[in-house]
Amino acid sequence: MSHVDILKLHSLKATPQRLCVLGVLEQHGHVTLEGIEQLTKLKFPTLSLSTIYRNINEMVKKEILSEVKIANKKEYYEITKENHAHLICSKCGKIEDFIINTDDIIKKAQSSTCSKISSATISFDTVCKECLSTK
Ligand SMILES: [Zn+2]
Ligand SMILES: [Zn+2]
Repeated sequence: MSHVDILKLHSLKATPQRLCVLGVLEQHGHVTLEGIEQLTKLKFPTLSLSTIYRNINEMVKKEILSEVKIANKKEYYEITKENHAHLICSKCGKIEDFIINTDDIIKKAQSSTCSKISSATISFDTVCKECLSTK
């Protein structure tokens, strides 16, 4: 599905700014607000941070984008996909997706703790392939 269709499906107008934010995230995977600002400003130099932030928030509310919460790291954003964990390179800081069914983990944790768990944030500290090969 194209980004224009995704926005339309969620009854958001496909503005050039929103499409640019989606393009940045598509290309780079996980990006901080500052990163999104820098990359969108390459195309729209006059765009203000508050406008970018408002657009991101609207798309987060519609679940087109997700906030990626990683311990000890700033908040990252990504295009919403199936539940997954993150591999974080301790050398270069790169974040990669690791598809794992977090629902199963939540179910297990919930039944063994008798608590109500709403979501799981799972990340693994790793050294990525590139960093391993350039040792
Ligand atoms: Zn690395
Ligand atoms: Zn991810």
